Amino acid sequence: MKKIIAGAFALALTSTAAFAQAYPTKPITMIVPFAAGGPTDIIARIVAEPMSRTLGQQVVIENVAGAGGTTGITRASAAAADGYTIMMGHMGTHGAAPALYPNLKYDPAKDFAPIGLAAGTPIIIVARKTHPANDLKEFIAWAKKEGDKANHAHAGVGSVSHSTGILLNSIMGTKPTFIPYTGTGPALNDMLSGQVDYMTDQIVNVVSQINAGTIKAFAIATPARSPALPNLPTTKEAGLDSYEVSAWNAMFAPKGTPPEIVAKLNDALVKGLDDAGARKRFDELGAVVPDAAGRTPAALQKLVESEVARWTPVLKEAMAAAKK
Ligand code: ASP
Repeated sequence: MKKIIAGAFALALTSTAAFAQAYPTKPITMIVPFAAGGPTDIIARIVAEPMSRTLGQQVVIENVAGAGGTTGITRASAAAADGYTIMMGHMGTHGAAPALYPNLKYDPAKDFAPIGLAAGTPIIIVARKTHPANDLKEFIAWAKKEGDKANHAHAGVGSVSHSTGILLNSIMGTKPTFIPYTGTGPALNDMLSGQVDYMTDQIVNVVSQINAGTIKAFAIATPARSPALPNLPTTKEAGLDSYEVSAWNAMFAPKGTPPEIVAKLNDALVKGLDDAGARKRFDELGAVVPDAAGRTPAALQKLVESEVARWTPVLKEAMAAAKK
């Protein structure tokens, strides 16, 4: 009996190894948990193209939006752990969500096989072109005066725009009316037509519109200016140094994905980050490409754990302040 079990075990091991070696033999689906055209979608598409070339199979993006990104990540986390379904998560889905969803169906630190960090994305405070404020100080005064007449767009509870937005409101001491979207792609469209007043968004989604003058930008929430927007002041320069926040987007597979497959995906991601075409797009859009040490699955696991620990008390406090 023992022999048979050992034999079956050995067979299972060889077939997993053979499966991992042959991988990938068909297209890979990458779930983006937000609407097409927004920051996570932009980053996913930039890396999917060179990754498809490296892997010899198409990496196909599927947008599964809802509940601040947690709908798509919940679905992706339950997919077969065979490397054919992966996902682009971010600081919201894998950092902020546990503080805001008491019944979250996944644990960001336990239910995934991290593949690697894709891009850092500084946060920018943007507003409709017709907004009366001309700088951050005027904007803060406006937000205080308007109260709940101010319309604040975000990509759903727990998204980056939501968590960084409620943080901004709690620092400013303001209580606007929230307008949720399935991503900041559609939110930006409504900002372009003047239907919403402001949001805090990831740089890659807004650089083109800021440069074209179709929206206003008041400050970038990083210690230094971005080379992609050299004229935009930092929050510190603009008079709000307590608001410093930058987001990130990263690739994960479901927990249990064979390590050999995760290694192949990480290798393809790393090559994608160094691809000349991808790098040019990232630079133009202001994304911050991680250095070698920041690209490993282990570094991403550490980042997720530290982000959940960092965001949970901050968001609980900001949410409590919003309810007062
Ligand atoms: N990453 C989201 C998107 O792609 C936006 C957000 O998290 O705020 O639309």
